[in-house]
Amino acid sequence: MGTKKNAVVIGSGFAGLSAAALLAQQGHNVTLLEKNSQAGGRARTWQQNGFTFDMGPSWYWMPEVFEQYYNLFGNTASNFYQLQRLDPSYKIFYPNQDIDVPASYTELIALFEKNEQGSGEKLEEFLADARYKYETAMSDFVFRVSDSVTEFLDLNLLVQAFKLKLFSSIRSEVREKFKNPALVSLLEFPVLFLGSTPSNTPAMYSMMNYADLVLGTWYPMGGMHKIAEAFVTIAKQQGVKLILNCEVKRIEVDGKGLAKLVHTNLGTYPADIVVAGSDYHHTEQQLLDKPYRQYSEQYWNKRTMSPSSLLYYIGINKRLPNLLHHNLFFDADFEQHANEIYDTPRWPSNPLFYACVPSITDATVAPQGMENLFLLMPLAPGLPDSEQIREDYFNKMITRLEAKTGEHIRNNIVVKRSYCVSDFERDYNSYKGNAYGLANTLAQTAILKPKMISAKVKNLFYVGQLTVPGPGMPPAIISGRIAAAEIAKRISKNQL
Ligand SMILES: Cc1cc2nc3c(=O)[nH]c(=O)nc-3n(C[C@H](O)[C@H](O)[C@H](O)COP(=O)(O)OP(=O)(O)OC[C@H]3O[C@@H](n4cnc5c(N)ncnc54)[C@H](O)[C@@H]3O)c2cc1C
Repeated sequence: MGTKKNAVVIGSGFAGLSAAALLAQQGHNVTLLEKNSQAGGRARTWQQNGFTFDMGPSWYWMPEVFEQYYNLFGNTASNFYQLQRLDPSYKIFYPNQDIDVPASYTELIALFEKNEQGSGEKLEEFLADARYKYETAMSDFVFRVSDSVTEFLDLNLLVQAFKLKLFSSIRSEVREKFKNPALVSLLEFPVLFLGSTPSNTPAMYSMMNYADLVLGTWYPMGGMHKIAEAFVTIAKQQGVKLILNCEVKRIEVDGKGLAKLVHTNLGTYPADIVVAGSDYHHTEQQLLDKPYRQYSEQYWNKRTMSPSSLLYYIGINKRLPNLLHHNLFFDADFEQHANEIYDTPRWPSNPLFYACVPSITDATVAPQGMENLFLLMPLAPGLPDSEQIREDYFNKMITRLEAKTGEHIRNNIVVKRSYCVSDFERDYNSYKGNAYGLANTLAQTAILKPKMISAKVKNLFYVGQLTVPGPGMPPAIISGRIAAAEIAKRISKNQL
């Protein structure tokens, strides 16, 4: 067999788009199949009455991951969108105070010092350590295929693993240094992005604090969907054939254990290589015949998934001057809400939530004089949801928004759409309606995640937020890069 292969990639999220473009760049004939009418996966967009809503991600962190990706194709982010650093980065509402987190490092240290004497210096130490973790992880760990423990059996790496504190929790790391509850939750909040609780997340992930507080929070003017559009443009420039409204129904494996045919609602595609960017559980349990699945339903049921979410996309016919672009409502008990997500899954009694108002930065996403409001409430995956439950929580969130901002909002709503567990399941074939994949817990890190390379089907690779390196746009992009590099390596060794 020659080196030019037919590669079929399933799912046009960042992981699928990244793998597809890189495989095309390697010279393969790549077809990317997407069930929805829009590419971008979780980062789709919805337009209504002059409002443009980003349906999923809203925080642009780790800009160099995007930049490195664009550089692989001789591009740079500014070829596609103008990036703006937000300052303040975000606002946190606590029960008795609110904090604007400044972009400036000096102002940040002063903010800590003002809230807890001596904490400014401790923050400097904490962030220096977080920087070490970030740089070590990003130059090595994160790019590993994590297929076997032998990859990590290098003395130098093991020493690094201990320095990275892979084996202790971020909660103890933060609480050892800081006592003020507001500062503690400011430092523990990025863990929410990793879909887990601070006590269950390796201290290594304080690297996310470095990403948050030092590298900064950015926004692509025009909206987050500009990123997905950029990825689609690159993929097409590389020759990827993107087919929308094309749902994969079955991956057919031949007698030699090779995925050969991909059956869809639009026809059948022959394949030498299959890369699945679709939800891992769905791919295994629904697209593959039983002998080719590596994990059982019981295995999946025991995984800690990231939360699902109750989302609202809302158009308001006036401005909301007391909010920032990103606003975290931590005016409720974090521990209790976390418990209701992970330990005793149920609709939360008094939830934390997040309000994003991109129209504060970007005039194009709402009509003049109006505001684009996106609400997100993390929720245990797999809960039953109904219009009535959604509406009850909508009322709770709006009541708190009105109280904290001193603005009437309820009667100024001109567009409103909810999105919850059953929508994630229907639109993305998402296991239990997870919003952002598998949680990065202590027991689900690196080699302990579902494997990227199928042990049962030699030419099948999994990418995206349920495998390495984890949830979020930057990891999804990296996931596609790891898979494409691994495929190139295997082809060069005649293993594919
Ligand atoms: C509400 C929300 C907020 C988020 N906020 C942030 C944030 O602020 N910052 C950040 O970095 N990350 C954020 N994330 C996480 C981030 O969006 C995801 O981790 C990332 O986009 C996942 O990319 P992916 O390629 O792994 O999966 P997906 O984006 O889910 O892509 C998988 C694709 O596969 C398709 N598919 C599924 N089954 C089939 C099939 N049988 N046939 C064909 N196609 C199929 C799906 O339609 C989908 O397009 C957020 C996610 C959500 C949902």
